Amino acid sequence: MRLGLAANRLHHATEDAALFRWLRASEPGIRELGLEIHAVGRTHDAIAAAGMLHGYAGLRRYPYGREGGLMKLVAEIVGMGSDGRTLDGAIYLIDPVDPSSIFPEAVALKRQCVIHGKPFISTVASARDWVENERIHAGLAPDPAADRFHALEAQTLALIAHDAMKPQMLAFAAEHFDVLSRFARRVGTGTTGQRLNELAWSRGWPQDTPWVHRFLSGPMGGDAQIADLVLERRCQRAVFFEDPHVARQHEADIQLLERAVTTVTDEAVCITSPAVASHWVAAVCRRAQLRPL
Ligand code: PGA
Repeated sequence: MRLGLAANRLHHATEDAALFRWLRASEPGIRELGLEIHAVGRTHDAIAAAGMLHGYAGLRRYPYGREGGLMKLVAEIVGMGSDGRTLDGAIYLIDPVDPSSIFPEAVALKRQCVIHGKPFISTVASARDWVENERIHAGLAPDPAADRFHALEAQTLALIAHDAMKPQMLAFAAEHFDVLSRFARRVGTGTTGQRLNELAWSRGWPQDTPWVHRFLSGPMGGDAQIADLVLERRCQRAVFFEDPHVARQHEADIQLLERAVTTVTDEAVCITSPAVASHWVAAVCRRAQLRPL
């Protein structure tokens, strides 16, 4: 398994910066899994200077951002064909007020991950959660330090899907209805929420109780309302199925929600495509059998 890695400057500037908080929690898992980490220049150098992943052959160095390091990650998410340069996903620890976080190569990295159904991991919480879930899929014993990512009964889940993705959201919810019902609360944008409630009622959910608490429709500000919940630490996970193939009139609101998630980087997990979401739920089920909370 190969992951691209980049972190905005703030996230590797100090000893307790986000990149190092993630590595302190996940370095043992990275080594157990033999995960290859393909890190852009400055991020790589910061890891080396901190003495982390010391002597680990799976850590690869890419050029600096200004020399095209991030651009190369994008191409390898797409896949470079016959020479085998293909990444399985990317971790990009975003500082939302760093201008480079909205450079075209940063936006393209996310977009190509979504298009190719590969994980795009933008927060410390997402990165920790992902490593633990890969450990579970690999048959390793659950790490108690990751229990909080599996304490669904104490969390709020946001479910959002753009129009072209609504059938996939409904299929995801139908397939995993019992797991998603474990969350203390579900919230969603207006239309997605309505469709999900209809599904839940058809499955026997009490008719007078919404399965999803609905905010406004996305274009009317629902994404911004959910972003506020995230910022208030009242929503710990967002499953957001974006349609990357159309122009979106509320693009700013969509970005706002994604930036809110990265603002509370240790708290919030964001999942951006159906393939990644299904992989997450499969890990949740497996881990619950191994380590009931
Ligand atoms: P909707 O909004 O669920 O109201 O369609 C989703 C979005 O466009 O963000």
